[in-house]
Amino acid sequence: MRVVMKFGGTAVANGEKIKTAANLVMRSKEAAENMEIVVVTSAIYAVTDTIYEHANRIAEEGKVEKVKEFVGELRNKHNMVASVAIDDTPVLKKVKDEIKERTAEMEKALTGICLLGELTLRSLDYIGSFGERLAAPILAGAIQSAGIDAVHFTGGDIGIITNAEYGSAQLMGGIEQEVRARIMPLLGDKIPVVCGFTGETKEGKITTLGRGGSDYTATIIGAAIDADEIWLWKDTEGIMSADPKRIKNARKIPYISYIEAMELSYFGAAVLHPRAIEPIMKKKIPIRVKNLLNPDDEGTLIGEEQETTKKAAKAITLIENTSIVNIAGTGIGSISDIASRIFSVLAAKNVDIIMISHGSSERTLSLVIDSAQV
Ligand code: ASP
Ligand code: MG
Repeated sequence: MRVVMKFGGTAVANGEKIKTAANLVMRSKEAAENMEIVVVTSAIYAVTDTIYEHANRIAEEGKVEKVKEFVGELRNKHNMVASVAIDDTPVLKKVKDEIKERTAEMEKALTGICLLGELTLRSLDYIGSFGERLAAPILAGAIQSAGIDAVHFTGGDIGIITNAEYGSAQLMGGIEQEVRARIMPLLGDKIPVVCGFTGETKEGKITTLGRGGSDYTATIIGAAIDADEIWLWKDTEGIMSADPKRIKNARKIPYISYIEAMELSYFGAAVLHPRAIEPIMKKKIPIRVKNLLNPDDEGTLIGEEQETTKKAAKAITLIENTSIVNIAGTGIGSISDIASRIFSVLAAKNVDIIMISHGSSERTLSLVIDSAQV
């Protein structure tokens, strides 16, 4: 069996959880002969947010001593997590050296940003990638410490080549063969541990696949290597009927179709990266969303089959911070003509439309868009 296992931020939130994750990988590997596993990791819980917040503040305030302070905190945090996650002393030492190296690289970049007072999308991607690039060595070290050889890679290392749309980069054509060619020789005795979320342009500049992009990394790899299944490990039971933080009696959904999962994520549920279904849909590779703290539970299965239900809805979700733009007037004339002109203008500015409606009078058109794009 060939499985891609992705550990989300909450599944690698601290040293104990990383140890649990590593043991799970080891047990799964030993459970069956010919078990082939590729691991994808997110950044440690909340690290990506913290990095973006600090990068913005550093660019704004221009205080170089803040760079040292922040990078120092980040280094300590990862060192502490590594010390709990990794028992093997030589492995721990190697991982701490890697953390030191990567944080030094980060400090240089942040110092540049601080002095210039300028934070481009390109530098945001580069800085943002450090969340995963600091987590992967720790998870790989923990797996090694658990007794299986593991090697870590960035997305670029294993062939995730993208365009230069920083912040939400698009895959280049033909990368599937490249990813396959780079991953397949590693399978078997070794466990590749890949940084989720990250890609690279042809010129070698680091890009990211959009927030929550580690899911997408997992399915890109899964499709490329013809995985039998993709397992997304979280610290919840699976995909829930609503956000359990808001709705106390939210229930686990045992089965959901690709289309439904995709709709849910487009409509704001933090269940999956919205594009994560695309790579695996044609090959019909099932995804399981599983609970790290209860690994024997089935979790949620996401698959091809559409299941009909007598219930009005399977799940409820919401998108926050949206705005309605109303375009109205007696001069509007034909709605199809004005709509096509409005959509071309919005497309030219990369404004995503979440929802559209127009009155039957053909005098108003309303668009719901992300408030940030107003
Ligand atoms: N670390 C990235 C984020 O916070 C990607 C991910 O977790 O999937 O968005
Ligand atoms: Mg996620």
